[in-house]
Amino acid sequence: MIRRIDLRGTELESLDDYRSVVPRADFDVEAAVPAVHEICEAVRTRGLEAVLDYNERFDGVRSDDVRVPQQALDDALAGLDPAVRAGLEESIRRLRLTCAAELEHDVVTDVAPGARVVHRKVPMERVGLYVPGGLAPLLSSVVMNAVPAQTAGVGAIALASPPQKDHGGLPHPSILAACALLGVDEVYTVGGAQAIAMFAYGVGPCAKVDLVTGPGNIYVTTAKRLLRGRIGVDSEAGPTEIAVLADDTADAAHVAADLVSQAEHDPLASSVLVTPSERLADEVERELDKQVHATRHTERILTSLGGVQSGIVLVDDLEQGLRVVDAHAAEHLEIQTVDAAAWAARVRNAGAVFVGPHTPVSLGDYCAGSNHVLPTGGCACHSSGLSVRAFIRSQHVVEYSHEALGEVAGHVVALAEAEDLPGHGAAVRARFPDAAR
Ligand code: NAD
Repeated sequence: MIRRIDLRGTELESLDDYRSVVPRADFDVEAAVPAVHEICEAVRTRGLEAVLDYNERFDGVRSDDVRVPQQALDDALAGLDPAVRAGLEESIRRLRLTCAAELEHDVVTDVAPGARVVHRKVPMERVGLYVPGGLAPLLSSVVMNAVPAQTAGVGAIALASPPQKDHGGLPHPSILAACALLGVDEVYTVGGAQAIAMFAYGVGPCAKVDLVTGPGNIYVTTAKRLLRGRIGVDSEAGPTEIAVLADDTADAAHVAADLVSQAEHDPLASSVLVTPSERLADEVERELDKQVHATRHTERILTSLGGVQSGIVLVDDLEQGLRVVDAHAAEHLEIQTVDAAAWAARVRNAGAVFVGPHTPVSLGDYCAGSNHVLPTGGCACHSSGLSVRAFIRSQHVVEYSHEALGEVAGHVVALAEAEDLPGHGAAVRARFPDAAR
């Protein structure tokens, strides 16, 4: 069901060497580019009509409009299962705590008397949040997108999620209920690349946004890559990945359950165990056999675990294991070893790290207080998970007095001359007409 990669006794030099041997998704954003480019172009040129056509083609729903009426949001909240509502409320409460603590404030630096530089934090004006709804209605992604945006003080928030045939062409009612609970009332029933293009170009009732955030499948991820620049985007948060670094002390049933929990997201999802313990590897395989057939989305999970993106990697020791997980740069990394916190502290590349036996990734998917929108496909080497910071721009605001400018004028003139840009120096000199040339 899941392949093995045996790196024991293999001395690899660099992280790049390791990257060539660790499991990695076969899917390629590049391969989706032509199809997604066509969708984006159609939305740009034909507007709402194209969006409605794609709703019909990909989600089997034909309608005249894409805006979800307020009544549907209110009804969804009224009909929400109380247990789900309680879960959402706790998830919101915990995430608000971390978002409030992470909110950055203006930084004022007096670089010299009368010379001030302020690093000013400015919330985005208008953002588009994407909430997946193809294989599963990810109501938790409403929370993960909206709470940091709201905490940052974003001016206007729009949200899109795929139309559901079984729910009158609207997004799943639990997604609408989560929107209502958070006071997000500009909601569109559009999914996939066409939703990202709608946000980027401003189509029909949806005005253009400045930034799009949120997870999604390969089409959503590719659209974000293609439209970056026209709009800001958060990280490429594509099909889910879990890596587990575990030693002999880990509980095989728990490790297997965690691998299954992420494999059930998508046939393209990736589940990787890295361990020096052959005994654990054998036990986890036996557990997977048992657990996969006892759960609901067996087919999807088997595809994911059997794909080239998944595997059990046997290593000489945890030192080598650490190099493997750093090279792999998974979206989620669990550390289930002795001294888990010490190993976790040495991890460089992972979207989020889950430390010790009582911190499964699925806790982070819902209620940990952390954000579940995280970089995938190796992007954890250079990108961060979604946070309040994604919704804030910063700008330097500079103010000098006449005296303070005079102090530094000679340096500006000298540097400008060195760059053969005399006009730069002249702009400073013009403010000191009485100074000797
Ligand atoms: P989705 O909403 O991302 O995608 C569904 C949409 O895909 C449909 O509305 C449709 O428009 C479009 N689509 C389907 N087939 C298409 C085709 N052949 N051509 C063009 N467009 C097509 O929902 P999903 O498919 O369930 O995917 C959700 C993804 O989000 C999963 O891969 C999951 O692992 C991932 N996820 C990632 C994170 C993260 O932070 N990295 C978090 C949660 C979920």
